[in-house]
Amino acid sequence: MSIDPQKVRIEGIYQQRQDGCFMQRVKLPAGVVSSGQAGCIASVAERFGRGTIHLTSRGSMEIHWLKGEDLHLVKQELAKFGLTSRGACGGAVRGISCSSQDAARFPQLESLAREIHRNFTGNPRFEGLPKKFKIGIEADTVSGRHLIQDVGLVLAGDDDGVALYDIWIAGGLGREPQAGFLLEKAVPEMRIIPIIEAVVKVYARLAPPPKRVKFLATKFGEAELTRLVQGEPCYSEELPDRGGFKDNMTPAAEGRERLILPLFAGQLTAAELGKLALFADKNSAGLLQTTADQNIAFPLSADVDAKKAADELATFGEATSGAAARVTFRICPGNHECKMGLTATRDVAKTLIAAMPEEARGLVWALSGCGNSCTQPQLADVGIVSAKLVSEEDGGKTPRFDLYRRKGAGFGEKICNELTIDELIEKIRST
Ligand code: SF4
Repeated sequence: MSIDPQKVRIEGIYQQRQDGCFMQRVKLPAGVVSSGQAGCIASVAERFGRGTIHLTSRGSMEIHWLKGEDLHLVKQELAKFGLTSRGACGGAVRGISCSSQDAARFPQLESLAREIHRNFTGNPRFEGLPKKFKIGIEADTVSGRHLIQDVGLVLAGDDDGVALYDIWIAGGLGREPQAGFLLEKAVPEMRIIPIIEAVVKVYARLAPPPKRVKFLATKFGEAELTRLVQGEPCYSEELPDRGGFKDNMTPAAEGRERLILPLFAGQLTAAELGKLALFADKNSAGLLQTTADQNIAFPLSADVDAKKAADELATFGEATSGAAARVTFRICPGNHECKMGLTATRDVAKTLIAAMPEEARGLVWALSGCGNSCTQPQLADVGIVSAKLVSEEDGGKTPRFDLYRRKGAGFGEKICNELTIDELIEKIRST
């Protein structure tokens, strides 16, 4: 079956670097996935792919090595467990990310993430956008992730039991990183979705493909973009209280421990994910969380012996990723699978980890296989971007890397341009 890669993007599917192979991204609002859903993803990867799963820095799962003729079956299998990929790629509202899973109020953030996901996913009014539209929800501003979203929400307290959020817009990384700006402070929760709709409408009307919302901030300035967004009729709307229960799967955090299984490059096999789903059934009420650093976390049930569970999880850790995973290092698929990739990111990262001095192993690292910066290198303590390939005299091509250092709030600063791999290793040794 011949598949038009452009037409299936909206289903969360990208063509891989390898001809005839596709990647299916699965949206997981706030990175939360049930054991049943994780088991489903594992079984799809086993049955239709090569039995591997990749975790992204936005909390999604990706299944590589799928064949065009199986893509509709993959969608059917995922749907059986309530999983959707609609809008996970292409010009649509992407998966709702949250890196604050360890915050006491995470259940509330997860609930809002699910409401936003439900409102925008699969709704034709919010598809066919000029490019991706990213939304992130955070408990605070420490990670800086609110600055890299088309709409970034930061919990800002309560008013009479109603959660308030600061709203940041027009941020993004990619080849032209730009920090978002504060649109409005302390907005009550029932106004959040209408305000996001206002931003999407202005974006759809005024930005040419393939520009992001940040293009509008540059073109019009922050004040004019604010005026345009606030001029949308829906901007001041409040959604009515619909009653019922909140949507979060994660229970309140009181008295619970949270265990994290570190994974190298967010990679794991279907068999491993299947085992982790069983571990979650036993220890965390069937709940797993994919973290912003591409690991898997388990919010333990209150009656679980945390020490015993940690010992059991440690055996998984060695089996899955080994020592390399002990360094927090966000790593994208690079040219192992991604069409855009300039470097073999997992191989480069292993070389760099081997060269790191002991004290550098406690830092947060990120490596991206191209300037798209999918691993958010500008928000890591040390960020590396594969910047270009240079033709050599022998006819081969060698990569060059840009190096970033982040020491305070905001984006990291680019401290070196276009280093060879040997120069990069030398810099890493002295980090
Ligand atoms: S950073 Fe580039 S190479 Fe890496 S996943 Fe994103 S697009 Fe692909």
